[in-house]
Amino acid sequence: MRAAVATGPNAPLALDDRDVPEPGPGEVLVKVTACGVCFSDLNLLQGHYPFARFPVVPGHEITGVVTAAGEGVTWPEVGTAVGAQFLYDSCGHCDYCVRGDQILCPSKRITGVVTDGGYAEYAVLKAGYVTPLPAGLDPVAAAPLMCAGLTAFNGLRQGGARAGARIAVIGAGGIGALAIRYAAAMGARVAVIGRSAHGAEQAKNMGAELYVATAETDPAQALKSWDGGADLILNAAPSTDAAAAALGGLAPDGTLLLCGYGPEPLVLPTQPMVLNRLHVAANPSGSPHDLRDTLAFSAAHDILPDITPITLDDAPATLDAMAAGTAHGRRVITFS
Ligand SMILES: [Zn+2]
Ligand SMILES: [Zn+2]
Repeated sequence: MRAAVATGPNAPLALDDRDVPEPGPGEVLVKVTACGVCFSDLNLLQGHYPFARFPVVPGHEITGVVTAAGEGVTWPEVGTAVGAQFLYDSCGHCDYCVRGDQILCPSKRITGVVTDGGYAEYAVLKAGYVTPLPAGLDPVAAAPLMCAGLTAFNGLRQGGARAGARIAVIGAGGIGALAIRYAAAMGARVAVIGRSAHGAEQAKNMGAELYVATAETDPAQALKSWDGGADLILNAAPSTDAAAAALGGLAPDGTLLLCGYGPEPLVLPTQPMVLNRLHVAANPSGSPHDLRDTLAFSAAHDILPDITPITLDDAPATLDAMAAGTAHGRRVITFS
């Protein structure tokens, strides 16, 4: 089978021919339909994951069809369309795993970082950690839901999103654009914070009632004059400073939640946080039950990201463009 392989930190992605792997006990072999190209894949190639295992096939936004099952696997059946995400597997018996918070398991393994992922025609995945695709969901457009969608949906949920709440989303990229649409579909009122005024029309089209361009307006002040402030500010931008700059726009008891972040530390003024009982939280992605809910909600509300399909041969150039900051929109590797 054809595969793209990360051979080591700061080495280019290499195209390779490999034997189709065989599923072991508890595993399924999945013929990959599509795999999204995520910024985390770039982080892997740039050596930002000290726990990475090289060589490794990247990719954790996988959709495909089960073509073989290993020993002891009774579900999912061969022929089932499934999705697979960042969380490859976990120990299964710690307190977090037992309560369904597998994403917090200290022994969790990450798809495409520690185990081979979806930049290949076939992937071996854990039967208990794949998620069936809802009927009718386009498996190519749905690939980024396995990471960007899950992170956005679960971030909103962890941040207490509810109908009628005022929710501000910083950044309208992969995670942000989905967070805006999910929040609007949940019945929340939505504000979008972007850098330039160019994003205003797109944000309104996605359901936002307010757009704040930080190049022109202080985001904290703009949010504060939005009926008293945001109940939740979800940072989807790859910048910690962008999140910090919006803190003053929270309503009392509000939450600043980081999905996106940069290398810089989070520096916040503490007195207004104490006086207003503000909350600061962060969220990685989600557990298998969170992905089920994300896919069900996406299917029910017809929310799919705008994607550009590419071939496996295009993947190295796509990652180079992402590193150079010249890639726009979500790319998804498709296999025929
Ligand atoms: Zn565990
Ligand atoms: Zn990702």
